[in-house]
Amino acid sequence: MNSGVDKVPIPVNNLNYKAVWEECTDILKNNVNPETYNTWFTPIIPVGWQNEQFVIQVPSRFHYEWLEQHYQNIIHAALSQVVGEDVPLVYNVVQKDEHQTFIQPVAVKKNIGEYMGDDTHLNSRYTFENFVEGKGNQFAKAATLAVAEKPGKTSFNPLVLYSGVGLGKTHLLQAIGNFAKEKGTAKRIRYVSSEKFTIDFISAIQNNRTNEFSQIYRTVDLLLVDDIHFLLSKERTQEEFFHTFNTLHQKGKQIVLTSDRPPKELVGLEERLISRFQWGLVAEIQTPDLETRIAILQQKAEYDSIVLPVEIIEFIATNIKSNIRELEGALIKLLAYSSLKGMDINIELAKIALNDILSTKKRDVSIEKIQRVVCEYYTIPDDLLRGKSRKQEIAYARQVAMYFCKEMTRFSLKSIGLHFGGRDHTTVIHAVRTIENELKRGEKKVVDEIEIIRKKIEVAVL
Ligand code: ADP
Ligand code: MG
Repeated sequence: MNSGVDKVPIPVNNLNYKAVWEECTDILKNNVNPETYNTWFTPIIPVGWQNEQFVIQVPSRFHYEWLEQHYQNIIHAALSQVVGEDVPLVYNVVQKDEHQTFIQPVAVKKNIGEYMGDDTHLNSRYTFENFVEGKGNQFAKAATLAVAEKPGKTSFNPLVLYSGVGLGKTHLLQAIGNFAKEKGTAKRIRYVSSEKFTIDFISAIQNNRTNEFSQIYRTVDLLLVDDIHFLLSKERTQEEFFHTFNTLHQKGKQIVLTSDRPPKELVGLEERLISRFQWGLVAEIQTPDLETRIAILQQKAEYDSIVLPVEIIEFIATNIKSNIRELEGALIKLLAYSSLKGMDINIELAKIALNDILSTKKRDVSIEKIQRVVCEYYTIPDDLLRGKSRKQEIAYARQVAMYFCKEMTRFSLKSIGLHFGGRDHTTVIHAVRTIENELKRGEKKVVDEIEIIRKKIEVAVL
């Protein structure tokens, strides 16, 4: 054997492009949220190599622009990581009959740490700057900021954040890490999900490397552990975590944890852990109010440089209440819809695009609430709507209320009729048609009035 002969590197264009793309998608999946992935990455088709450039196909010009504006670096980084060298990317836009090619300006980012995480495992997207403050999260934000400024030196140790899903626990937790990294308030920082902690620990046991494992976690200055409810009933991992916790705490190192419920409700977690989790500060993140939801959407739109009419923002924020991830998802969906259909974003499109999300929310609106709002608006007593009066203003208010019951609830015509003093379903149909015709005629006063009532109903069910 002649060991002096260098291995000839395989030219990149000999690599199987489908396999390359498949590996890229694995990386991408880990670095964007699922809604984003499905909207922007699933439609990409790998096409092959062209002069040592990697060619992918996308369904529209908008799609290409969006990817280039938002995800160029991450796609490039993933591709380069898989292939082992910088690879220029070429986009083919295939839109019905049109066919255009765009060659991505090669803005090579060698260091993919920003996106893939270095050994802090932080995602740079989560910062305090882009966390919108509101009534529900003010306290948690103040506590996390205090901890980020002086890790280990406040009485908030550990700091435990808890809330339902999609309300910003991971965001705030990682914001602490990103802040500490940027401002240098902590040297060794480590973010880990409890799931990863568990998996790595099991694998360390299997490979006789538990010392190494312990070493990694017990020598940091700032430990950020996400979703500790995942540790429930995992005894050995809990044990390991207990020792990690003690070591760090004794050394005055900062620990921040998140959970989907308050520590004392973590049934299946050892008592001694639960009691330790309550040594410092436990802060809840509550669901955001309407103003906060609007502000969050505005911020996301700005971040993505898109101009969204206020009414659209209000429409989404009014309809999606309990989960910020869903709020973001709705925005992405609307944009994708507008791009795929080549339509401008307006209220009608928003309603169509978000139909499935909204229809599951219809249940929140009850006939009684609609009746109450309508009566309040026209200042008439509730029972008159259900009564026999044929006085014109009352009959009209009744028709308006019926119209909204049909539009905003899932009740059948028959059962709507029953809620209005046992009227027949044909009466309801007639009412709905009458109001629809009024709206079609488009007299401003009438249209405005209906829209005001609609908003009031939406607010009433918040
Ligand atoms: P959790 O960990 O509680 O399930 P996340 O931290 O993953 O929730 O938040 C879900 C999404 O909502 C993330 O994309 C996050 O950036 C965003 N988000 C949550 N709260 C806010 C906020 N107050 N301002 C801006 N974005 C937010
Ligand atoms: Mg989370």
